[in-house]
Amino acid sequence: MTQRKKLNLKELELQLPAIETNETKIILGGNDYEDGIFHLINEEGDTIVHIIDNCVDGNPGGGNNVGGSQEGNNAGADDDQGDFDHYYDYDYDDGYADGNVDYSQGPPTTSPFHTPTGLSNGMNLAQPNINMDPLIDDGVQDATIMAQVQGILSSNSVIKGLLGFYNNGYFNLTIGSETIPNANGQSTGAITGFDSTSNWTTVYIALNELGFNENGWQWDWTGLDNMGFDHSSLNTIEELVAILAHESIHAKHNADFLNALHENGMNMSDTRNWMISQGYSTEYINAWFSVDANGNVGFNPNHGDAVHTYMQNHDQDIIQHAIDEFRTDMHQLQQTVDNLRQEADFAYKESLSSNPMGESDQSDWAEYYQTLQHQLNELLYDWGAFIDKGF
Ligand SMILES: [Zn+2]
Repeated sequence: MTQRKKLNLKELELQLPAIETNETKIILGGNDYEDGIFHLINEEGDTIVHIIDNCVDGNPGGGNNVGGSQEGNNAGADDDQGDFDHYYDYDYDDGYADGNVDYSQGPPTTSPFHTPTGLSNGMNLAQPNINMDPLIDDGVQDATIMAQVQGILSSNSVIKGLLGFYNNGYFNLTIGSETIPNANGQSTGAITGFDSTSNWTTVYIALNELGFNENGWQWDWTGLDNMGFDHSSLNTIEELVAILAHESIHAKHNADFLNALHENGMNMSDTRNWMISQGYSTEYINAWFSVDANGNVGFNPNHGDAVHTYMQNHDQDIIQHAIDEFRTDMHQLQQTVDNLRQEADFAYKESLSSNPMGESDQSDWAEYYQTLQHQLNELLYDWGAFIDKGF
């Protein structure tokens, strides 16, 4: 057996190849791990890691936009209020009885509407170890995709949980984009990999630039992806949630692996033994490592397939939970916006009425209208990428 030495991070960095575009394309072309992509043990037996996961395969186009539930909207009482018939959703939780707002004193002095609380349960994207600059620095019209990715990451508690190593500042996460051509009739939504120039402290997620344009994410798949998750019921924005959840699982696995490597001097054999001692399952450990006839531990050359099989067996519920939470959040957001619009419309018409409701005059209603409109504009500014999209 070859005697192996341990490398410190600087020594390791000097021996590690940077991820090059052509290598990336080979892997992205459909689980082709030939051509020595994974140079995991060099001639001296030193461990070298070089990994890119291939993700979210599927056939573009032909999707059906099922979208979120729309029932329950505008189902309230239709009381005649003079200048304008207004009504409220039965499930509009504003602290008032539905359809029973008291305007006897005129309009409320403050808005009775609250931003849905579920929208702030996600990642803290302001942390310095979260870098999304590459998503906007590549010359593509990326404002909408940026808003979509930020909105999903910052609102989704499932994804936040997956990205805990990054959300807590332990490793760095870079989110960007690159062009990933279709291969073998399949499209790739995104890739996740290690940034080998970062002393093995950074994981990147890159969305496929072919999948979005100035109007945001565009691809809508049907059928199963490479972890067996069925995309048929997802609308176009939910596809992006599924992609980000899928890549976040990879990023979690990669952070597990990085953490184990750093705990063990970047030595593959020690890292494997440590993961065994920590209780990681054999299936999970085998997805990362291979052991040859001489007992040399290396990186599993079939990692891409193995990790997707692992995800198929264990992680499908996570994707579904992320989507379910997103649907609930966006449905609540849409209801709030709908109710704000109704109330603002009502206030506006009262402000023009010769006989406005309650002990008030037109200016009170005009002021109330401005308050509601301001709140509505703030919601549209922050969450406009998800409003009026069928949720
Ligand atoms: Zn994947």
